[in-house]
Amino acid sequence: MSKTITPLMRAARIHGVGEPFSFDEVPTPKVSGDDILVEVKSCGLVPNLKNVIHNFPTWFPHLPLPPFPAIFGLDVAGVVAETGSGVRGINVGQPVYINPLRSCGTCAACRAGKPMGCRASTFAGYFGFGPDSPDMFRRYPSGGLAQYMVAPASSVVELPAKMSFDQATRFGYLGTSYSGLLKGGAGPTSTILILGATGTLGVGAVLLALALGVPKILAVARDESSLARLKALSPTRIETFSTHSGSIADWARTVTDGMGVDIVLEALATAAPSSLSTDAANACSNGGRMVFVGGTREQVCFDPVALMVNQMQYIGSKWFTTQEGQQMAGMVAAGTLDLSCLEHHAFRLSEANEALDHVVTQVGSGFINVVVQP
Ligand SMILES: [Zn+2]
Repeated sequence: MSKTITPLMRAARIHGVGEPFSFDEVPTPKVSGDDILVEVKSCGLVPNLKNVIHNFPTWFPHLPLPPFPAIFGLDVAGVVAETGSGVRGINVGQPVYINPLRSCGTCAACRAGKPMGCRASTFAGYFGFGPDSPDMFRRYPSGGLAQYMVAPASSVVELPAKMSFDQATRFGYLGTSYSGLLKGGAGPTSTILILGATGTLGVGAVLLALALGVPKILAVARDESSLARLKALSPTRIETFSTHSGSIADWARTVTDGMGVDIVLEALATAAPSSLSTDAANACSNGGRMVFVGGTREQVCFDPVALMVNQMQYIGSKWFTTQEGQQMAGMVAAGTLDLSCLEHHAFRLSEANEALDHVVTQVGSGFINVVVQP
């Protein structure tokens, strides 16, 4: 039995660059074709949203924003409230996460399974990457800081009953790490070093590496107390090292009997020095892969001869596919991906301004998840 959908909904909207959220009643969006209407239960906030609202038009004028007044909100979890006439296999009442990555679906890049290469590649509720993103924002103008949002059925990750909506809003960070781990080949026979292990990407990477059966996880970060908290997740499989303690590569070789690691996952924050990446790269074994999912702004230097001699690969990885999202939901259902260590700081929709101020103060606290519950 479906709930009555009201013709008007509450939304936190931004009316212009740099403005705070205002709280408006707006028409509830209509659903048709291959789209679904989601009743938003929880929407994750990322600290960079503040930059997007305040600074992106100046910093990155080539990255389109949704039209103002805009409903932002990237990581949405909720319940399917209505389905378009073309939707099959998704039912009203189903708990879902919505992958916010939109692409046209029909261009050569999309048909090749590379939506990030689409000229319309866009994060709904956040910003666009391509010259055709404004078209995509016309089709899907709003994000999760409202009672309802419309999304394509192809963006749906079905959630298991045991997963909370707040946990599901973490799929953006988790999926970014997961896709990077897969590109690195993480599994039961690999050794992995996670650089920036106590941040939002890093904690997720550790949890996912545990779920993927990685037997030895080398967690590297600055803060000793957060590292101790990571170690407690699996004391026999996780080794920790503070970047204040010396060379990452020297330490990694001592704990791997001189072999080095198969994969380095670089999950550093923007302000981190590139010397950490250079140091960690030297921890790679012959044939090792270094996967970048973080956002350090400094350039990383590498030695092409060492790259050749050691047959090493550098790989960049951005976001994740809906299929990878469904795999993570499956691991939660199976109990192999345990998200119980995450602490959710929840705000009401009317507190969206306070929530955005709060998430900015939590940068680097990888166990904390800031959400708005409309
Ligand atoms: Zn496309």
